[in-house]
Amino acid sequence: MNDIMGAGVSDLTENLARERTEAVARRPSRKEAEEAVRTLIRWAGDDPDREGLLGTPDRVVRAYEEFFAGYTSDPVELLQRTFEETDGYDEMVVLRDIRFESHCEHHVVPIIGVVHVGYLPKRRVVGISKLARVVEVYARRLQIQEKMTAQIANTINEVMQPHGVGVVVEAAHQCMTTRGVHKPGVDMVTSRMLGEFRDNPTTRREFLSMIGRPGHVG
Ligand SMILES: [Zn+2]
Repeated sequence: MNDIMGAGVSDLTENLARERTEAVARRPSRKEAEEAVRTLIRWAGDDPDREGLLGTPDRVVRAYEEFFAGYTSDPVELLQRTFEETDGYDEMVVLRDIRFESHCEHHVVPIIGVVHVGYLPKRRVVGISKLARVVEVYARRLQIQEKMTAQIANTINEVMQPHGVGVVVEAAHQCMTTRGVHKPGVDMVTSRMLGEFRDNPTTRREFLSMIGRPGHVG
């Protein structure tokens, strides 16, 4: 484990910590949250006091705790445990098809898809489960796909300071399939390339072909 608190990293850590503290200070009680669910049930046209719905506010609030657990984790902290003993490994590390479930911040309905993460280590590597956890922490918040893609790439880049990072996200948005334009079968693809992944077409091509999307993005 290394101390890798550069100036950029501590700024990022401080900003994230401040955002979390402010959000927690504004946090309503569980009772208020359950009352809000009862209001939405009434708004939908049903009776929150009928038998089948009595336990629903409690269940919805518990589901929210799970869906939005990412607000209580710090992705920077997760990545700070890195390994330096790499025996000179300096090739690309790619983690493909990390499944995620998120919620769109416009309609609070699911976004479900996969994330592919690649980086070109500069001395340090990180346990692969940590990369998957970073994806999960950002997914379990209210999101838009573009922002989530950038957050994952930026965090890996700022904390690990590799030669480059590539993140590609492919996802279906239920706000498009179950409401609004009702277009099922549409996947949205977003990508964020930093460092060598942005500047070196060979590196980018290698990454895209490793994740099975040669010539598709970037
Ligand atoms: Zn939406």
